[in-house]
Amino acid sequence: MRFECGQCGAALSFEGVRTQTCPYCASPSFVERPASSSRPDPVFTVAFAGDAQWARAHLDRWIGRRMIIADSALKNGSVDELRGIYLPAFLYSAVARTDYTASIGEHYTETETYTKTADDGTKTTETRQVTRTEFRPLAGVHLGYITDVVVSASAGLDHPTFARIEPFELRQLRRHSPALVSGFIQEEFSREADECLRVSRGAAIDEVGEEVRRFMPGDSHADLHWSTKVEWESLDPVLVPVWVFALRYRGDRPPLRVVVNGQTGKIAGKLPLSWWKILLLVLGAAAIVTVIVLLILHLREPPP
Ligand SMILES: [Zn+2]
Repeated sequence: MRFECGQCGAALSFEGVRTQTCPYCASPSFVERPASSSRPDPVFTVAFAGDAQWARAHLDRWIGRRMIIADSALKNGSVDELRGIYLPAFLYSAVARTDYTASIGEHYTETETYTKTADDGTKTTETRQVTRTEFRPLAGVHLGYITDVVVSASAGLDHPTFARIEPFELRQLRRHSPALVSGFIQEEFSREADECLRVSRGAAIDEVGEEVRRFMPGDSHADLHWSTKVEWESLDPVLVPVWVFALRYRGDRPPLRVVVNGQTGKIAGKLPLSWWKILLLVLGAAAIVTVIVLLILHLREPPP
């Protein structure tokens, strides 16, 4: 069965899963659509590490740790929808060749003599150690291998949310087979490969900049200029596992959407906060500080 969400635009396919609403945005505007041949097929897949109960346990622990500031109604919230989705992404790898020039600074110490004038006007010659930096020019080529850049190709989950549940352990990639994803919802590749390539290349070049800075020898460096060319680029379509929860906690509020990394259990969600609890915490902390300050003042007072 193939469906497309009229609200977020996610194109989904699934067998043996019953759902009337979009698993990402809960929109009921969900229409059957024909197969499209222009979308890429996944080459690799990261499998789910656990079942729905596993995901629920991670969610409960995540909420439990935040109950001190979260809306109390969450404790009795009910899961409206819980969906395991294989989300489309591109795995980017490349070789980055960076030409750089810089001034490399080496510290050295020198003994310096100086004249000291005492209060009564007598002058003496003294010595002291000073650190100086000598700069020398350096130019070269740095080769870096970029292997772990993953960019979401999902229409249902925006990139910032995706970035918050990263990373995925990519050593556990398996060659994709339909049997691996049966029983789960699969989103098709919704973003163009070209657009994802541009995003990944940008992320990769930023990473190379950091690496080149760390690579610089010497005690310090200045005037670092570099330009990077990426070669041997590859962009593989992969599927990664995510759980999407719709948690209903108050009748008058829309359900809370929580996204869980299906491999590591890392969670992204905007928790409703209880401002009363936060205020009480702040007041409590202020009271403790006040007591400590009063105690210190009291102990400092000289005994009568
Ligand atoms: Zn949707």
